[in-house]
Amino acid sequence: MSRRVVEGDTIRFGTWRFVAHSTPGHTPGCTTWSTTLHSHGRALDAQFLCSTSVPGYTRLVNNADYPSIAKDYAATFSKLARLPCSTFFHEHPQGFQLERKIQALQDTPGVYPFTDPGGCRTTIAGDMAQFKRMLAKQTAAPVAPRD
Ligand SMILES: [Zn+2]
Repeated sequence: MSRRVVEGDTIRFGTWRFVAHSTPGHTPGCTTWSTTLHSHGRALDAQFLCSTSVPGYTRLVNNADYPSIAKDYAATFSKLARLPCSTFFHEHPQGFQLERKIQALQDTPGVYPFTDPGGCRTTIAGDMAQFKRMLAKQTAAPVAPRD
């Protein structure tokens, strides 16, 4: 079965329940999922972030393939600022320091390294700063649209 997921949809896998949050920009279909994890008897609100990174080649101005890209990124950063972000995972391992956290799981039993609100906010803030820098630069010196 396949269907299109929209903002606020809930999907279930067994006892797992995931809520969809549309967070476009990195890709037009970027979706962040929130769920509740159970670890050591505690319930944790968790997010599976779609990336908000802005690769250096990204055209934010005059992007014929994705005309709303800059507006979408801006709306996504606003939305993510309102969503909780404490226990988080990311589509790219470097987006949530996966290697360091796996090591921490082994080195510090009883500590759950994936609960990392500072890391979450730092990742998103860094991406937003990159977005603002690139948008300012491309707005000041726009490249002509491709045919
Ligand atoms: Zn990506």
